[in-house]
Amino acid sequence: MGMNRIPKNKQYLLYRLVALLFVTAAVALILTVVLVVNTIVKHNEKKQEIVQTVAEAELGAKAGEATTDYEQAGDTDSAQSRQDSSYYKSFFSSLLDNLKKKGEEVFSIEPSASILPSLVVSDFEFERESANAIRVHFNDDLDNKVSEYVLERRGAGSGSDWKTLDSFSSDGEVNGNIYEYTDEIGTEEPTQFEYRVTTVSVDEEKYLSSEKSILASNVMICLDPGHFEGRNEVTGDDSYGYCEGDYTLKIGLELRDLLRENYGIDVLMTRETGTITIGGHTNGDLDNGNISLRGEMAKDCTCFISLHTNSNADNANGYDTFQQPISLNKALVIMNIPARGSDYYVNMGNLIVKNLTDTNYSLGLSDNKKYDTCTAGNVPELSGTYNDGLGYNGTVCGRYGKSGDYYGVLRGAATVNKPAMIIEHGYHSIPEVRKAAKENDLYKDWAKADAEAIAEGFGFK
Ligand SMILES: [Zn+2]
Repeated sequence: MGMNRIPKNKQYLLYRLVALLFVTAAVALILTVVLVVNTIVKHNEKKQEIVQTVAEAELGAKAGEATTDYEQAGDTDSAQSRQDSSYYKSFFSSLLDNLKKKGEEVFSIEPSASILPSLVVSDFEFERESANAIRVHFNDDLDNKVSEYVLERRGAGSGSDWKTLDSFSSDGEVNGNIYEYTDEIGTEEPTQFEYRVTTVSVDEEKYLSSEKSILASNVMICLDPGHFEGRNEVTGDDSYGYCEGDYTLKIGLELRDLLRENYGIDVLMTRETGTITIGGHTNGDLDNGNISLRGEMAKDCTCFISLHTNSNADNANGYDTFQQPISLNKALVIMNIPARGSDYYVNMGNLIVKNLTDTNYSLGLSDNKKYDTCTAGNVPELSGTYNDGLGYNGTVCGRYGKSGDYYGVLRGAATVNKPAMIIEHGYHSIPEVRKAAKENDLYKDWAKADAEAIAEGFGFK
């Protein structure tokens, strides 16, 4: 036949050549795509970097202005805190200039506001003015940056709506004025509120409007750190320097702060130092014959609470006086006659006993995690056997004397018709208790247990 056929071996070579061409073309295409994508990504990264740089430069500039304002206002603390920002201001300004000189494309975005100072009112506090009125107040330190303050209130711990109580216009000058408002709440039932002050900034570019809220209530507790300095001092080798009259003050001051700050419960202290003077009677002179004056201090308060640590009788159960075993430890809440008749206060006492029992047990200061609860009209009488005996749980109790309550502080509160209780947190006749008092800040654990139970007793959050 006349057909000009390529020999089979040459045909095969051609196929290989074509295939090679295809592979080379494909590889070239892939490389080109990768290169293009890479260039786009790089460009975007660079663009993003510039955007960020410029934003930070603007931010630095604004913070720098704020610093100057603070300095002019003599507010050195705030000026100090802004000094880092001033540094970044100059750093980014020069960076920005260099970028522009190089002909880089520059993008501008709004700076994030997070670095700007917030206008939060200071010394925002409350007092329980009476059984149905709460006073709140704050100072005018922000008057040169704020045009208006708005005061609102809502029920504590609820998602309920804020109700505006009042608003105050700033006079533009800081001159030590106090803004205050007395809230007539229309009830004498223990009630807890959240109050909020919102500031309105005169210049949102420099200072942010902000808000601050506090808890407050119409409850005021007369808190009595038992005895006075140096009273009921433990002696001996392992006393750990324990003295009841000193330690009750530590518990009391801690409890006062927890009640005010965490629960909005106001506190009137019978003493805030080692010394106590009421009606011209001081320390030993007060407690020997005039001790009921402590309880009478509660006359304008909601109730009276006296803070103590307990002790067993000398050589109780055959143990040396200050070497009693932890098996004797328990919490006791001794109530006066008005409190004993009230389900409300007996319930609060049960909660205190529960919390202290839990606390002492968990700290290894007692081997008994059980406690007894009782109801109004069914409160056991405290006796020496109960105080010292093994096998008695912590409980709410009472103690009658010749004329009403046995204990003078409780009798004093009863004469001004106030529910009252003595809290015996644990026994300082037990070495482990004294050791924890000295080495482990036991007063903080006890105060926390008290505060949580008291707040829960009032139904507070
Ligand atoms: Zn005592």
